[in-house]
Amino acid sequence: MTFVLHQALCCPIDAAPLVIDELSLVCEHGHRFDVARQGYVNLLGPKDKRSKDPGDSKEMVSARAAFLNADFYRPLADACLDVTLGYYSTVADGRITLMDAGCGDGYYLHHVQENLPKDLRNRISLVGFDISKWAVQQSARRCDGTWFVGSNRHIPMTDASVDLVFDMFGFPDYSSFRRILAPQGRLVRVTPGDRHLIQLREIIYPNIKPRSERTQYPETFKVVSEKRITYEMILGSEDLKYLMLMTPHMFRSTPERRQQALNHDELSLTVDVVVEELIATTA
Ligand SMILES: [Zn+2]
Repeated sequence: MTFVLHQALCCPIDAAPLVIDELSLVCEHGHRFDVARQGYVNLLGPKDKRSKDPGDSKEMVSARAAFLNADFYRPLADACLDVTLGYYSTVADGRITLMDAGCGDGYYLHHVQENLPKDLRNRISLVGFDISKWAVQQSARRCDGTWFVGSNRHIPMTDASVDLVFDMFGFPDYSSFRRILAPQGRLVRVTPGDRHLIQLREIIYPNIKPRSERTQYPETFKVVSEKRITYEMILGSEDLKYLMLMTPHMFRSTPERRQQALNHDELSLTVDVVVEELIATTA
């Protein structure tokens, strides 16, 4: 798909604006970033490269895409759409920018884009990034947008340039999020509740530690809305395999216990997530 240059995108080295020069983005100091033919750009700063191939592997990204494309998490994507429409209704006119921080394979932003009323589609800019280049490649394949490889710690966007930041099961960096959020903007967090995938966790772990019920937020953010989404989904053995591959940190266990889970032809699992909208405080 086509890479879209967002006006707030900036050089990861010196934060200077980026402009398109043939098949690259360049800043006024001559830093140059090639736009890949798949429609994304790598803006990972030198400080963010801890390994040669950071983030989710190609295999994990494929598993995630296979799982999400079966729409098991569609209600979560619908919640993203609802938040977007709700927010847009408070904006007098003009454009809004949606960002998925840790966009994975792009499922959520693409779902929002696809389901927006037609007149809104070209007023909403999509920005998605992930530390995994495989994930960003997959996102760029789904739809046009400002897709880049990057990390939460150093988001190459100018201050106050984003209206909605989605953090879907991610690892938030609150100071970065606060910096890029527009004054009226919102951080939208989707996090697992206590019973999320409980049946699978019971098979995999000998003892399940209860999660702490509430996320502690820094003083710089406050929750303005909270919604819980719970439902059951029935997964076949292939789907179970994808689910465990896409979230290995969640299912780190012995091979025997993992295999025990995979031996099920079918498993009914509870989805239990919390969707919170947060605004920046004046603190
Ligand atoms: Zn530069």
